Amino acid sequence: MTTPHALVSGASIAGLSTAFWLGRAGWDVTVVERADAFRDGGQNVDVRGKARDVLDRMGLEDDVRRLSTTEEGTAVLDDRGRAIARFPVEDPDGPTAELEILRGDLARTILEQLPAQVSVRFGTQIEDVRDAGSHVEVTWGQEQTRRYDLLVIAEGVRSRTRDRVFGTAVSKRELGLTMAYGTIPRTPDDDRWWRWYSAPRGRQITLRPDNTGTTRATLACTSRDNLADLPLDDARAALRATFADAGWQAGRVVDGFAASPDVYVDHLTQIMMPAWSRGRVCVTGDAAWCVTPLGGGGTSLAMIGGYVLAAYLTRAAPGGYADALARYEQWMRPLIDDTQKLPPGTPSLFYPESRAGVRALRLVARIGSTAPLRRLTSRISHVARTDQELPEMHRAGS
Ligand SMILES: Cc1cc2nc3c(=O)[nH]c(=O)nc-3n(C[C@H](O)[C@H](O)[C@H](O)COP(=O)(O)OP(=O)(O)OC[C@H]3O[C@@H](n4cnc5c(N)ncnc54)[C@H](O)[C@@H]3O)c2cc1C
Repeated sequence: MTTPHALVSGASIAGLSTAFWLGRAGWDVTVVERADAFRDGGQNVDVRGKARDVLDRMGLEDDVRRLSTTEEGTAVLDDRGRAIARFPVEDPDGPTAELEILRGDLARTILEQLPAQVSVRFGTQIEDVRDAGSHVEVTWGQEQTRRYDLLVIAEGVRSRTRDRVFGTAVSKRELGLTMAYGTIPRTPDDDRWWRWYSAPRGRQITLRPDNTGTTRATLACTSRDNLADLPLDDARAALRATFADAGWQAGRVVDGFAASPDVYVDHLTQIMMPAWSRGRVCVTGDAAWCVTPLGGGGTSLAMIGGYVLAAYLTRAAPGGYADALARYEQWMRPLIDDTQKLPPGTPSLFYPESRAGVRALRLVARIGSTAPLRRLTSRISHVARTDQELPEMHRAGS
């Protein structure tokens, strides 16, 4: 029997997780990544719900714990930066999860444990895809066309290959919220809490600890303009103007972003697709179902998606991938639908326009942080949970 060969496009959480599991099951896997080298950047992400089981099955839980950002909880601040509501990490499903890690650390941890039959090629991307029925022909690299049993697109929310293959079947729902992430110098009064500060006109500043002695900052603002499409210096200038009178540590963060090497700007967009596969091509992770940080758990869902996809594929009869892809979708769909359903009024509910709206938000946080209501509040971060059992993986030789 010949060994199946998959091409995975995108070397971040979704692509590397899929490659990890397919490789472990004995498939040959080639991963192509557009960036010239491994992308180490990114801020704090968490591993929650079923992704904890996936991490455990990967045997990587201890590594992730060692790289923990050691965040102690989440605090909502008043105008003067004093905590008025606290959600400690001990709360099940609170905003701070038990396993918090920098995105780059998590991706590198998986990359370093890839089985030998997985090869990763940086600085290259797919130019053409042709589904020939019995195989898929993909052109990448030096214009060479190669044959694969399956193409997995894991290129993130703005995936070019997904758009090329699935065209108008891809719906993009912009949520009207820009988020900019960056790393700034730590100051002595930075604690180990994720601090949330809201200002009128839909603005929010957050600061989080990391494991490298710096502070991870986020600036979020409601806007129709897509700052993510601007050259980075223009986006920084727009953020400086927007946050000029936001108060608290706005000046420090804006100045810090001017010098930060890893500022990452995202205009939050949900991806919706009626089907995640077509013939021998499938999508996974943000490319398939981006839930955005408003839904939460995008990294956990990418890890679960990689596992579930690989589990069904490796159990399929050779060439019988259509059924496996349908089962992957059936398993993942309820989780994604649940996470993409946002409360009515999002994002303005959480990013109010008026000063009265900010006061109301803080009141809700304060009441929600009291002992009797904390469990209810924590349902907001209740993602990647399901009663479904993970499908078992077919291992090479078993
Ligand atoms: C550098 C970086 C920093 C991030 N920082 C944060 C953050 O701070 N907070 C947060 O919540 N989320 C962040 N994210 C997004 C987060 O990783 C995802 O939401 C989540 O983990 C799901 O991952 P994914 O693998 O589906 O997509 P992504 O993590 O977006 O990965 C997609 C990968 O595909 C590659 N790629 C894109 N187009 C092509 C192409 N045409 N050919 C080949 N490769 C391609 C990208 O370079 C990237 O490596 C970041 C992603 C990246 C890549």
